Amino acid sequence: AAKAAGRNDVRYYQPSMNADALERLTLERDLRHALEDSAGGLQLYYQPQVDAVSGQCIGCEALVRWYHPERGMMMPDAFISLAERSGLIVPLGQWVLAEACRQYKIWEAEGMPLSISVNLSPVQLGRSTLAASVQLLFASHQIPPGAIEFELTESALMDDSDDNLQRFHALIALGSSFALDDFGTGYSSLSRLKRYPISRLKIDRSFVMNLPGNAEDAAVATATLSLARDLGMDVVAEGVETPEQRDYLVSRGCYVMQGYLFARPLTAADMKAFCRTTMLKHDWVS
Ligand code: C2E
Ligand code: MG
Ligand code: MG
Ligand code: MG
Repeated sequence: AAKAAGRNDVRYYQPSMNADALERLTLERDLRHALEDSAGGLQLYYQPQVDAVSGQCIGCEALVRWYHPERGMMMPDAFISLAERSGLIVPLGQWVLAEACRQYKIWEAEGMPLSISVNLSPVQLGRSTLAASVQLLFASHQIPPGAIEFELTESALMDDSDDNLQRFHALIALGSSFALDDFGTGYSSLSRLKRYPISRLKIDRSFVMNLPGNAEDAAVATATLSLARDLGMDVVAEGVETPEQRDYLVSRGCYVMQGYLFARPLTAADMKAFCRTTMLKHDWVS
């Protein structure tokens, strides 16, 4: 019946399915429709990355939202892993990157060439076609080197084959760089970290949350900063919510931060306004 309907990707309800499985299948179908409908319902928000000392906005992270026709705004935690399991992360990730490129060009034309960090799923990185599709996108939008950074989690370093390393270098050759997201929460051997061309470590929010009072988290933050320094990497602290967290991190030599203390993820229009108000002394030399 599925073939007759011309849709070999449709799976039907089976009485044996539990409620969770049915729920996933429904959401998967809805997400597929959203992607087919020229990505209707998908939107990128942008969270500022700030120089904590000057207060200036120096970049942003693109974070996807999905306006579901019945459920309203859905956060990525509710659909990214489903997209990864179903393979829909590939067209979704492609849409996110294309949208980030489009937005970069708009801001660039407005005199605000703000670099954008895009989250890349390990599923996307595992595709041999990734670099070619990124190349096409960058060429068609005329994206300059340094405009787009890719954020990966430590799981992307688990495969230490030459093929995997080669895929990193292919994207670097296109002018992108890499940040290691949620650093400290996954498994990453330090020797492997050294092998990979990573420019920035993002200290996970879970280690920032209890600063400066929690001695273990303070030790993790301090160790991450010194590791990064020794490996020649920059550091971004995620989830900075209080002035105390900010001040502690600055005292330890961490200057680039992202978190509700500075701004929540914003629409493109709000992002522009935020940057304008923080860029008074900033001349956007790139
Ligand atoms: P992430 O990449 O670690 O993104 C940071 C998350 O922390 C965002 O949640 C952001 O809103 C939240 N956050 C930022 N500052 C604060 C803070 O001060 N306090 C608190 N409590 N939270 C803060 P969001 O937007 O819900 O995204 C969750 C995760 O979904 C992301 O974590 C990322 O792993 C994934 N994700 C988002 N967009 C994409 C995408 O386009 N592609 C892929 N593959 N994954 C994405
Ligand atoms: Mg991220
Ligand atoms: Mg993160
Ligand atoms: Mg995170």
